[in-house]
Amino acid sequence: MNDKCISVVIPAYNEEEVIRQCYDSLTDVMIDTSYDYELVFVNDGSKDRTLGILDELARLDEHVRIVNFARNFGHQAAVTAGINSSRGDCVVIIDADLQDPPEVIHQMLEKWEEGYEVVYGKRRKRKGETLFKLASAALFYRFLQRMSDTDIPRDTGDFRLIDRKVVHVFNRMTERNKFIRGIVSWIGFNQTYVEYDRNERMAGTTKYPLRKMLAFASDGIFSFSSKPLKLITRMGMLTVLLALVVLVYSLCAKLFDLPEVERGWTSIMMAITLFSGVQMLSLGVMGEYIARIYDESKNRPQYIVRETVHYPREEMQSNE
Ligand code: UDP
Ligand code: MG
Repeated sequence: MNDKCISVVIPAYNEEEVIRQCYDSLTDVMIDTSYDYELVFVNDGSKDRTLGILDELARLDEHVRIVNFARNFGHQAAVTAGINSSRGDCVVIIDADLQDPPEVIHQMLEKWEEGYEVVYGKRRKRKGETLFKLASAALFYRFLQRMSDTDIPRDTGDFRLIDRKVVHVFNRMTERNKFIRGIVSWIGFNQTYVEYDRNERMAGTTKYPLRKMLAFASDGIFSFSSKPLKLITRMGMLTVLLALVVLVYSLCAKLFDLPEVERGWTSIMMAITLFSGVQMLSLGVMGEYIARIYDESKNRPQYIVRETVHYPREEMQSNE
């Protein structure tokens, strides 16, 4: 037996259809490795039987620990909580729906033993996703790379292994609306990747509706870059230049009595609608940053834990 311990963090929101299978697959893989391990399930305010099933599993297996949230705080908050409460020498983050094959953990551990502190999973193929999800994801990651100052690798999710050293740094970061894959890249250390094919969801439906996807994407962009603000400035400068040209032209038209003065309705409508649109957009972008400043300044906790559940061996025996 190796004396190192691996923590596996699994966020789960309404996953009653897959959670047991997830536990089985992870247990098989972890027993196969020679390490000690713990499975940290974060129940993100599920409204179905997820918590009940997890509790049954925890009673039977002391490797299982449950962090139970007071309500649904979202995927990124759940992963954060799992990392915060993990105790292993490294932490593996994996989704509950088995889209990321648990066997890949073997390769991640090999890389970790070679000395890498972050091993992220890079998706080679994605099976069973809608065309819309694939296209929007591809577009988003390319846009994010142009926008952000941190080099966030393309086509990666939160399926990754991080060393305790990285976890220490991560635990000190208290920012809200986290975009974890970006933060881990930002932290640095020796990073590498393993490639894998992403499967379909084993059962159940996606817990990421469009609304959550958009909120997640804007976290990625606005918390990793101030470039949108600079773009506004540039857009403003362009508009001023354009305005100067239009100004000279309008004056000439008036002075020389060109027919445009009579027929000016179209151009005025165009100018008004276009520039009010640009202004609203700029205000919106500024609003995104202000909302984030406001969120941070309130200094509320990132998530609220109702209870942590763990049944150690002694207690299990005394129950029998
Ligand atoms: N999840 C969560 N809280 C949420 C939404 C999702 O903990 O509010 C979990 C979910 O249970 C799953 C993981 O995050 O383990 C990824 O979600 P999902 O598979 O639905 O996303 P997709 O793969 O469709 O992007
Ligand atoms: Mg999924």
